[in-house]
Amino acid sequence: MTDCFSAPGLLPFEQALSNMLASIKPIGLDDCETVMLENVLGRVLAQDISSPLNVPPHDNSAMDGYAFAFESLISDDCLTLVGRSMAGQPFQGVCRPGQCIRIMTGGKMPVGCDTVEMQENCEVLMFKSDVFQSNVLQSDVQQNEEQQNKALQTVRFSGKKSLGSHVRNAGEDIKEGQKVFNKSHRLTTVDIGVLASLGIASVKVFRKLNVALIATGDELKTPGQTLTEGDIFESNRYVLSAMLQKLNVNVIDFGVIEDDFQAIKTAFEQADLKADAVISSGGVSVGDADYTKDVLDELGKIDFWKIAMKPGKPFAFGHLKNSIFFGLPGNPVSALVTFHQLALPGLLKLQQCEALKRINLRVKTMTDLRKSPGRMDFQRGVLSTNEQGETVVTSTGAQGSGVLSSLARANCYIVLPTSQGKVPAGEIVTVQIFDQYLS
Ligand code: AMP
Ligand code: MG
Repeated sequence: MTDCFSAPGLLPFEQALSNMLASIKPIGLDDCETVMLENVLGRVLAQDISSPLNVPPHDNSAMDGYAFAFESLISDDCLTLVGRSMAGQPFQGVCRPGQCIRIMTGGKMPVGCDTVEMQENCEVLMFKSDVFQSNVLQSDVQQNEEQQNKALQTVRFSGKKSLGSHVRNAGEDIKEGQKVFNKSHRLTTVDIGVLASLGIASVKVFRKLNVALIATGDELKTPGQTLTEGDIFESNRYVLSAMLQKLNVNVIDFGVIEDDFQAIKTAFEQADLKADAVISSGGVSVGDADYTKDVLDELGKIDFWKIAMKPGKPFAFGHLKNSIFFGLPGNPVSALVTFHQLALPGLLKLQQCEALKRINLRVKTMTDLRKSPGRMDFQRGVLSTNEQGETVVTSTGAQGSGVLSSLARANCYIVLPTSQGKVPAGEIVTVQIFDQYLS
């Protein structure tokens, strides 16, 4: 997707990303803690996890029915019922040729059985309730013929039988010793179930990052306050904070800081003391009230990039004394897209998390797309399925960097390479589906 047709003076997007990633050193491998399973959702594993056991641990039935040796039914369609195996209460004896065992879903396969027939295909003849009194009905059939005859039931099997049917084999899900998760994997809801099924009660995870959030701008009021003339409601901190929650970091909120050199300097110094990463929005361009650059020139080693991407041309990245710094543009769409495309991969690296696997598709655009060559566009689109069953994309309309509602309606970026000009409807374009951080 990268190309080298950026307008003069602009840094290609891929270059900005790789420069940034190259200069980020992740937190230490031993910077971790042990956390109980109940609290590990979204945490990043600091260890590989291999299975200490087979899952399931024993062969068991996938159906309510009857278990037997497949060979027994080759010459006959009736077997003698000699016991039962319930989930957690296995049959203790041996099932011999010509015999079968009542078995419930999850019941351990009795010794001597290799096949289960579901109860819908079985008919119990001469049913007597006392046959089900014990799990060990006939552990030794030869020794007690008389008692056996009293309790004997016959089960007739109909339908086609196949060897091994309805049996879940030991280790079929996960084998003992098998690698289940790699270090640096972020644990999802289902992963926690898998860990529980392995009997693992706690895991080693990397510590949570501390991330400071700062919005700059005299015009910004927080929701709940009253707008006076020229003001707008501040939204960047809210949306960034929500995305950071999905990254499972501790957010340190510095609120809104006025456009004042000293106020911004104090906030950045404080943030640097407390955080692994500091994220600011606004003030990174070269307007009269953009003090961020002057402050950062004093406080750290920060690069101010003009990236060949749209939205989001101005972007600052570098190192303060203790932390890394991301300076996002103030426009809400630009702030979000630069956070998602640039800061997020950086934060993942910092927290020792595996890199994002972004999913790109090639689909037809149903709308004309406006574009001039010179920057890589991350336009907002809606992926859908048309009446012919094809996946297609439609632009969300106005693509201004202040139109946050365009991002809310979207479910993908339409990624147009730097050299691309306008695209007529019907052409094939690349889209990037929104991941869990944006949805
Ligand atoms: P700046 O990057 O500070 O020049 O801001 C660019 C535009 O984004 C201006 O229209 C600002 O009012 C707006 N803006 C800056 N910060 C925020 C914010 N935190 N929330 C919403 N809009 C913002
Ligand atoms: Mg500003």
